[in-house]
Amino acid sequence: MQEQLHQSQKMEAIGQLTGGVAHDFNNLLTVILGNLDTISRRMSGTDQRLLRAVDHAMQGAERAATLTRQLLAFARRQPLNPKPTDLNRLVISMGDLLHRMLREDIVVDRQLDKDLWFVEVDTHQLESALLNLAVNARDAMIQGGKLTIETTNLHLAERRGEIPAGDYVLICVTDTGCGMTSEVMERAFDPFFTTKPIGEGTGLGLSQVFGFMRQSGGHVRLHSEAGQGTTVRLYLPRLMGGAPVVDPQPANVAVPAQ
Ligand code: ADP
Repeated sequence: MQEQLHQSQKMEAIGQLTGGVAHDFNNLLTVILGNLDTISRRMSGTDQRLLRAVDHAMQGAERAATLTRQLLAFARRQPLNPKPTDLNRLVISMGDLLHRMLREDIVVDRQLDKDLWFVEVDTHQLESALLNLAVNARDAMIQGGKLTIETTNLHLAERRGEIPAGDYVLICVTDTGCGMTSEVMERAFDPFFTTKPIGEGTGLGLSQVFGFMRQSGGHVRLHSEAGQGTTVRLYLPRLMGGAPVVDPQPANVAVPAQ
């Protein structure tokens, strides 16, 4: 419990710091991208080398804009557009995308609860979060393996760690990959923490997942064992009667089962 508190205070502090920087960077990048766009339009038909140089500059600026968006997500400063969502449909609709992104030696297994509750969530951001998790799973399964995406309803009668009592829809993303040591797990959500080679990892994938889940009123938990694999559990509050159902009760107070 003490450790979790320490972890969330650390995340809060890093979030405040990075959020401000990312916000200003995002504005500057919008100016840069807008001007590069104007330059490239005016230059049509001129020197090919110059056109390529502008094109490279635009690609770099767009990549930087993606990174700042992930940082804004981590700092919970991105605009969200939540709407009532059936997560099973969302998971099914991502089938082609996942197929293209994963290698052929990875099997995808979907286990979807057919009576799943609705949630209220920004579907684009949730898709990004699930893609980040799938990329990590793929990179952890260098010899191939299985990626399982499971959805279930969960009634928490009492607070579990930082997660308040209430009704949740749980999405579990499990891989049979290399897993994480406890040292890696401790830092996995930190922005810019990566164990991947330079150019392959940004260290912002799990940060986006963490910030987005918190901004959506949800939670994320990591379970991993080196050599065994990893499960990432996403808890999203159930939507009922137009409002997400999470009990604002203090710690350790049980609520009656419905
Ligand atoms: P990146 O993928 O760019 O490295 P992330 O924030 O997504 O950034 O992940 C941070 C680190 O956490 C990874 O570099 C890796 O060491 C570890 N990690 C994340 N997901 C997994 C996983 N499914 N299996 C093993 N290690 C993982």
